[in-house]
Amino acid sequence: MYNPQCAKCYQKYCYQGIMDESKLPSFCPLRNSKELIQKVKQNYQNEKTQNFYLLSSLIEKEAYDEKAAREEGKSIPVRPRIREIVEFGKKLGSTKIGVAFCIGVSDEAARASSILENHGFEVCSVACSCGGLDKSELGVPPHYKIKDPRKYESACNPLLQAELLNQSQTDFNVLLGLCVGHDMLFTMNSEAPVTTLLVKDRFTGHNPVISLYTRYHRHLV
Ligand code: SF4
Repeated sequence: MYNPQCAKCYQKYCYQGIMDESKLPSFCPLRNSKELIQKVKQNYQNEKTQNFYLLSSLIEKEAYDEKAAREEGKSIPVRPRIREIVEFGKKLGSTKIGVAFCIGVSDEAARASSILENHGFEVCSVACSCGGLDKSELGVPPHYKIKDPRKYESACNPLLQAELLNQSQTDFNVLLGLCVGHDMLFTMNSEAPVTTLLVKDRFTGHNPVISLYTRYHRHLV
């Protein structure tokens, strides 16, 4: 048993197509998981997986300027993620898209929903506070509340968000800003595939990678 540690591999030999075992690091899956690599390769033959995978690959290709990529080997991005979600939905033949959002990003959810609608999709959106339950009703002890423990504090309800979108039979769901953990619960309970448009980071204005770059956040991480 070993733990893959690709994040610590600076050469990324797999990306370069270099399979020379003498060069691969000790934690490399190419060295340690040869059988698994072949076994998983077969899983792509599943019709649904293959369809999803081909569409994903096309979305990836179309993310770059084709001429610059083919003729100059340059990777020049040409469109934002919201547009990629739109194009993926169209290619998939989706008609109904779910939006599960945090009330803290309500404005962004409204904008995303109207963009999806402008592209012809039917959109079902559910706020995290949907259900109108106090946190105590979902087993949260008073001292876990953010503000006055004696007062109503709206519970995030990712299971209800998932169930409402399951009942609406959305083709896939888009996450906007659910809390860490609530997003996992949503994903665990969503019947439709889930993609993320916006990752909530209260501290950085939803740009969590800033904390990976700036020295001024080093004491925080
Ligand atoms: S699979 Fe191997 S070569 Fe590729 S990034 Fe991981 S450790 Fe590096």
